[in-house]
Amino acid sequence: MSPVRLRTVKLCKRFGGLAAVSDISIEVRPREIHALIGPNGAGKSTLINLLSGELRPTSGSIYIDGRETTNCTAYQVSQSGIGRTYQKTNIFLPFTVFENARLAAQSRLPTSMRFIRDASRNEFLNERARAALAAAGLNHCAERIASTLSHGEQRQLEIAMCLATAPSVLLLDEPLAGMGADESALMVELLKSLAHNHGILLVEHDMDAVFQVADRITVLVNGQKLESGTPSAIRNSAAVHSAYLGNDDHA
Ligand code: ADP
Ligand code: MG
Repeated sequence: MSPVRLRTVKLCKRFGGLAAVSDISIEVRPREIHALIGPNGAGKSTLINLLSGELRPTSGSIYIDGRETTNCTAYQVSQSGIGRTYQKTNIFLPFTVFENARLAAQSRLPTSMRFIRDASRNEFLNERARAALAAAGLNHCAERIASTLSHGEQRQLEIAMCLATAPSVLLLDEPLAGMGADESALMVELLKSLAHNHGILLVEHDMDAVFQVADRITVLVNGQKLESGTPSAIRNSAAVHSAYLGNDDHA
């Protein structure tokens, strides 16, 4: 069995009296897409914020490649190889596509590159940015101003910015949000190609997309894990149907 990249053990996050994430133990393995689904307010974004170090858990533990990172900062988590995107786009609209990717690369410059000549460092960052744009399917619009991109292209750029930090695991929060059918189909293909080199924790409401790409699905409801399994096990789960999939109100 392949090693686990990212693992949580009984992770909990309370906001005052509200248990937003309760006792969640999940894993992401290399080259696997693990989808996290559940109704609004289920705790999906909170879980991603815990994993990325943007929130501190109330209890429980997080391990990256076997090393505990429970109380690490977002910067330390990023240095450990975890990249994330946000539910709302988070790009620098007045800058070019290339400049956005390069700024992201610069935000996680490896320690070994800090003390070398400027020219070599520049070339290293440029190459990281170019590779990230290529992997996200954006090479053709590197010189465009980000604000002129379509919504789908802006979501691709967010993924490119995440790739520019050279992560081994991607935490993607609703990458298909607000997309039309054509843009969604493109993003589904991009997710499949990213899984050749990365473990992915995918939060997504588009069930067609989830069932197309996921190797494993975990269903969260009210902060708790309702079920976890293969797409066919989830599709056939009576508990999931009554709590979530059977309910049209899950968007
Ligand atoms: P999802 O992403 O599944 O829609 P969230 O993780 O955003 O759900 O939210 C889970 C629950 O935690 C919701 O009830 C939400 O209102 C609450 N919540 C999220 N962030 C905060 C916060 N910073 N302070 C207080 N409550 C929060
Ligand atoms: Mg959310």
